[in-house]
Amino acid sequence: MALTTCPECNKQVSDNADTCPNCAYPLTGGGSTQAHGGKIQTVEQRSKRYKLQQLLSCLLIIGSIMAVMFGFSGDDPSPGISAFGTLGIVVGLIWFIIVRFLMWWHHA
Ligand SMILES: [Zn+2]
Repeated sequence: MALTTCPECNKQVSDNADTCPNCAYPLTGGGSTQAHGGKIQTVEQRSKRYKLQQLLSCLLIIGSIMAVMFGFSGDDPSPGISAFGTLGIVVGLIWFIIVRFLMWWHHA
């Protein structure tokens, strides 16, 4: 097993690897044209990952709001679920803001 240098992050990577374990840069094929295509693919993968995280953070916020409403309503209110839901809303909002910031940062 030989080592090759990743063109994206300049780390030593096994030439058996399809992608760089450090930055997920596609290493198969080689050559400048394919390397250029690989770079575009990496950006697309990153953008998909952000969109997925954005979706997950939205689901966390919605789920947490429902948990808070469930915790406050009914004959048997449970403050534990409400507290957990409030924490979920805060974490979800922070997560959402971070993902939005990273998306803006990489597209700027
Ligand atoms: Zn790399």
